[in-house]
Amino acid sequence: MTPTEATSYYFSAAAERVGISTAMARRLKTAKREVKVECTIALDDGNTATYVGFRVQHDDARGPMKGGIRFHPEVDPDEVNALASLMTWKTAVVDLPFGGAKGGINCDPRAMSPHELQRLTRSFVQGIHDVIGPEKDIPAPDMGTNAPTMAWIADEYAKFYGWQPGVVTGKPIELGGSYGRDAATGRGLVLALENYFGSVGRTLTGTRVAVQGYGNVGSWVARLLVEKGALIVAISDVSGALRNANGIDLAQLDLHVQKAGGIRDFGGEESFAADELLFEPCDVLIPAALGNVLRKDNASQVRAPVILEGANHPTDPDADAIFEKNGVVVIPDIYANAGGVTVSYFEWVQNIQRFRWDESRVNEELKLVMFKAWQGVVEHAKTHRCNFRGAAFAMAIARVASATHLRGV
Ligand code: NAD
Repeated sequence: MTPTEATSYYFSAAAERVGISTAMARRLKTAKREVKVECTIALDDGNTATYVGFRVQHDDARGPMKGGIRFHPEVDPDEVNALASLMTWKTAVVDLPFGGAKGGINCDPRAMSPHELQRLTRSFVQGIHDVIGPEKDIPAPDMGTNAPTMAWIADEYAKFYGWQPGVVTGKPIELGGSYGRDAATGRGLVLALENYFGSVGRTLTGTRVAVQGYGNVGSWVARLLVEKGALIVAISDVSGALRNANGIDLAQLDLHVQKAGGIRDFGGEESFAADELLFEPCDVLIPAALGNVLRKDNASQVRAPVILEGANHPTDPDADAIFEKNGVVVIPDIYANAGGVTVSYFEWVQNIQRFRWDESRVNEELKLVMFKAWQGVVEHAKTHRCNFRGAAFAMAIARVASATHLRGV
């Protein structure tokens, strides 16, 4: 199933549940705008290279569109389209006054120098500057992009429209970034898990967790879980995987990653094939790398009773059905990993007010948003007698449909 087919499946099942009309369903499924631009840059060796950049703006009924920009060799228009729609549902689940968008460039950032990445980013902005903006569409980091990338976007955009920090979020603090943004997706995942555990009378202490991916999301969720007394018993990245039943020493691992660029060859822990991470025996599995990793062919091998979706769209509908049948609880991406976009919203609010919150305020506000959204998800799950994904989609679709209806045609 392609990512678009999968998100479309989840959408249709939930749309039926909340009883929206066929015409409204078609309107909500259709992306508002899809932009594809050529990005030709000079390489450091004097040659040139041409890349293709995408920005899909899915829906703006509830406010300006919001979503990350991904630099990855496997970026494709179908996936960007699916991820853009997931952003619409995600911002609605946590009730932010935003719609959804997503972008990406098909490139390998690990094989490019910082100068080349900067030229590529600026070239992309030259292609899309007229469709983004603080009141239109606000990009953010995603796989392969980070705070420096956002600084280049804001600077290139400023050449056309003057300095407007609210055009992107996930910026460096010095340029109007928000305290707490770096850790926000990981922190939101921890809050999501605590909210679920709270509803079943459990705590994080002693919980054994396996994490796929050790980038922004994976490393922060792992660190913050350890602070709460959980054990990270397995972790992987693109270079390999590690396991330790007594808990991996993350402080030492971070020092190794800084030097080696990945977790491979970290001494002291048992290493194994990265592909096997999803099948580790543990209490909670957190996919926090690529999408579409849990599918029909491997879902029944998952041994964790709880899956906390850090990545976007890690589970396809066939796998979702297998998890439901096997009693595996899935805390879905559009709720679980919404901490990042929520703090991005806080950053945007601070930018447009020319004001700055301290980190404790950011974290407190995030906790409130994640808790309120969780209550909504649980309520919808009871009303519609469905799993948490079905409930989160139903809640989001009802909100976007209502805003669309009120704004008229
Ligand atoms: P990142 O680029 O910082 O890290 C990605 C990690 O995944 C790296 O450690 C990389 O080595 C690892 N990886 C890549 N291929 C792998 C493979 N085959 N097996 C194991 N590990 C692999 O990206 P990120 O920002 O941490 O994003 C990770 C996921 O979370 C993506 O799906 C992204 O869309 C989603 N997400 C990110 C945010 C955010 O705020 N950054 C918010 C919501 C969702």
